[in-house]
Amino acid sequence: MVDATALSGIRAVGPDRATVGAGTTWLELARAAATHGLAIPAATGYLGLTVGGTLSVGGIPPAVACGAQVDHVHALQIVTGDGELRRCSPSEDPDLFGAVLAGLGQFGIITEATVGLVPAPVAVRGWSIPYREPAAFFADLRTLVRRGEVTEVFGDWWRPGEAGEVHHLNAFAFAGPSGPPDGAHVLRGLTADPAAIEVEDTGYLEHITRIDTAVADLRAGLGWDALVKPWLTVWLPDSRVEEVVGDVLADLAPVDVGVGGFVLLYTHRRAALTRPSLRLPAPDGSDLVHLFTLMTAGPPGADTGFAEAMRIRNRALYGRARDVGATRYPIGTLPFDAADWRAHYGERWPELQALKRRYDPAGILTPGHSVFPG
Ligand SMILES: Cc1cc2nc3c(=O)[nH]c(=O)nc-3n(C[C@H](O)[C@H](O)[C@H](O)COP(=O)(O)OP(=O)(O)OC[C@H]3O[C@@H](n4cnc5c(N)ncnc54)[C@H](O)[C@@H]3O)c2cc1C
Repeated sequence: MVDATALSGIRAVGPDRATVGAGTTWLELARAAATHGLAIPAATGYLGLTVGGTLSVGGIPPAVACGAQVDHVHALQIVTGDGELRRCSPSEDPDLFGAVLAGLGQFGIITEATVGLVPAPVAVRGWSIPYREPAAFFADLRTLVRRGEVTEVFGDWWRPGEAGEVHHLNAFAFAGPSGPPDGAHVLRGLTADPAAIEVEDTGYLEHITRIDTAVADLRAGLGWDALVKPWLTVWLPDSRVEEVVGDVLADLAPVDVGVGGFVLLYTHRRAALTRPSLRLPAPDGSDLVHLFTLMTAGPPGADTGFAEAMRIRNRALYGRARDVGATRYPIGTLPFDAADWRAHYGERWPELQALKRRYDPAGILTPGHSVFPG
């Protein structure tokens, strides 16, 4: 186990990038960038995650058109498994760079990262739109993403008091110099009932830290850190998303979600997700791809039987999704063996095996995933 907190610290903030220790959280960087009028692109829903941690899995935001955090990295400093301190970037050792981003810590420990920054928006207007019919929800979701007038769109289910019957569409757009965006224009032509739409205006920093605030409340109110959280996250091809989401929602029982748990769908423009180790569903002719997460929070005091039941559930759900083209986003709780990893990396497998032999010949880095056994 490596404690990355010793690697934290913001080393430099420039006009379009920052260099940070890998143990720095995105929340720390977002706050520091804001003092320069800058923002992190591709902010994950929750920002209390380390830069090294999310760059090792992908870092997927609810924003629709900016790709993932791994798409905004200029350079990395790494200690590879052979003990060497190395730098890599798109122009310096690009194979190592491509393997480390979304590389699950298999090739080296990221010690420092130079990541892109963008001008900070000032304010954000958000619309929360409820649907009873999944077809209307998905039609409006695609309309909003494809028009490109909103920056962030995501769906969620199982809010407190619900059992998956309401499809919540959340859309956000930045305020411009002339004020907040006009909802009548942004939401034009949608099938949603205008009377049911809730509107909220927030400052930009408040907007991107709202999940951190919600998690702090869950920690204080529910003892959230102590709950077993057997999450499942998969990428779904656009052509099958209704089917998989509908299938999962239809079968969920309250125990599958739990207190403080929920179900989440991020939608992305496929072309913006460029890093080769972030494994997406095979192209299906659509410009969109979706990240679907079942964020289960176990009951307080859940025993190992609960965790095992959820592992089995996740494997069954993953198997059904994979059969229609889904890929794993490698966070959460999912039994995955060597054959699964080989299939997961597909045509990249021989190159990744060779890079593993070269940079971590003794296989000392992150063996727990069993990506490269023996
Ligand atoms: C409340 C909450 C909300 C979340 N929301 C999102 C979201 O919106 N989008 C999203 O994409 N993810 C989200 N996640 C998941 C998150 O991206 C993963 O849990 C990620 O692994 C978190 O990083 P960490 O700092 O906790 O790293 P860890 O869980 O400690 O590490 C993750 C992996 O990266 C490796 N690793 C960690 N640090 C380094 C390093 N410095 N160098 C090399 N390898 C390293 C580890 O070995 C491990 O394989 C969320 C998680 C939580 C708890």
